[in-house]
Amino acid sequence: MADRVVVLGGGPAGAVAALRAAQIGAQVTLLERRELGGTCTNRGCIPSKALLAISALAAKIRQADEFGLRVSGLEFDFPKMQSRKDEIVTRIRGGIESACKRHAVNVVPAEGHLDGDSVVVEGGQRFPYEQLVVCVGTEPSGLPDIDMSQPHVITSDGVWTLDRIPERLLIVGGGVIGCEFASLFAPLGTRVTVVEVLPQLLSGVDARTAQAFQRLLQARGVEVHLECRAEELSYRADGVRARLSDGAEVEADLLLVAVGRAPQTRDIGLEEAGVKVDPRGHIEVDQYLRTANPRVWAAGDCVGGLQLAHLASAEAGRAIENALRPALARPMDRTVVPNCIFTQPEIATVGLHADQAREAGHEVKFGQARFIGEAKALAEGDADGYVQLVADAGSDRLLGATIMGAHAVELIHEVAVALSDGFTMAELGSVIHAHPTMSEVVMDAAQQGHKAAPYLS
Ligand SMILES: Cc1cc2nc3c(=O)[nH]c(=O)nc-3n(C[C@H](O)[C@H](O)[C@H](O)COP(=O)(O)OP(=O)(O)OC[C@H]3O[C@@H](n4cnc5c(N)ncnc54)[C@H](O)[C@@H]3O)c2cc1C
Repeated sequence: MADRVVVLGGGPAGAVAALRAAQIGAQVTLLERRELGGTCTNRGCIPSKALLAISALAAKIRQADEFGLRVSGLEFDFPKMQSRKDEIVTRIRGGIESACKRHAVNVVPAEGHLDGDSVVVEGGQRFPYEQLVVCVGTEPSGLPDIDMSQPHVITSDGVWTLDRIPERLLIVGGGVIGCEFASLFAPLGTRVTVVEVLPQLLSGVDARTAQAFQRLLQARGVEVHLECRAEELSYRADGVRARLSDGAEVEADLLLVAVGRAPQTRDIGLEEAGVKVDPRGHIEVDQYLRTANPRVWAAGDCVGGLQLAHLASAEAGRAIENALRPALARPMDRTVVPNCIFTQPEIATVGLHADQAREAGHEVKFGQARFIGEAKALAEGDADGYVQLVADAGSDRLLGATIMGAHAVELIHEVAVALSDGFTMAELGSVIHAHPTMSEVVMDAAQQGHKAAPYLS
């Protein structure tokens, strides 16, 4: 008889767990309390990229004069931008719904709680399982000093239903989400202020890249306050006023709180079912993604680490394969995970940056090239940024890359493949790249690492 699999949560992790389980031949029930697609499709990756595409276009149009194009009267129809975004979200969600139908996944629109060897929903219906995969994701966090119930205070969830472009936006939190929204709204004419408590934006990205990005953000008119907190907030009928800990005063019609996300693991019976949860609420799993209860597995944002949709999906695929094919069980390998930040310009990393490589005991060497030296980047008017490759100085084996610049989120995959295959920097540099392309900057960086780039000293 087919294994009975229950999946809790239908985001990028849960949907993949359910679909892979069905492909393997299990009888699958997927419980989702909101919409299929989870944060990514409905409130994260997809809506943000749909709006970012428009603001990137607006930024390009503002550059038109540089290209010899005279464009006047740029106007924004924000409700139309939002409805275009909604159509894209609906379409992607529809794709997930039909994949579930095709694979005969029983989708139950309800909140599930663990109870013994079943998941139970309101009304008492029980879904017994042989294997359970918990993929409940995260929700935006607030800050104790900020009254999140105020009408002009939102988290990322509030952006998708805004009916107008804010004139002045105060973003508390200069991490990935805060910086993506700064990049989204600045080209739409919003005066954006970002307040970050740490000494750099985009914590986790190497300091040099974070500083270079900050300069570009500031050049686009965004005000940045580092090592700073928003204090003394006053809420008004038309917005908020904040005194910052560095003494500055900011008035804004909208305050966006982007200070991280908390796992949705409370009160769903995890501990009672023998599943261990750490003090921050993340589910503890071993390298096979198995929890302390051998029949319960967990994947995605709720297990902590990098919060990325593709990593969530990869973990879920690994978890369900380990659950249903124990003889072939494999540990989760997170050494090559592209991490893409959809700011303007884009930033993408994979593997280790220099400090991480040194901490891991490597003597490092670099290969670097800037977009400004590439014909295609100049032709497209996108010459900001660079590629930095990191390799082990002794073996020349690639350890990681940071790319900041146009199409960084696409270019990074070439390095990801090279890393997966254990390429040396010399091997990457010896792959012929078409001319003129943005990709040449990756080849040039690899050649530069060997002092073999003909046009770079
Ligand atoms: C603004 C923003 C932009 C982002 N952009 C990107 C990006 O460009 N690229 C990227 O890789 N990542 C991005 N992310 C992160 C990405 O959305 C997450 O990493 C991804 O959604 C995690 O997938 P998940 O399945 O683990 O969790 P989620 O997507 O959060 O899904 C969990 C699901 O479980 C459901 N659920 C929770 N509890 C229960 C329960 N008890 N019963 C039933 N259902 C339950 C929830 O309703 C939810 O649908 C972004 C996030 C945000 C907020």
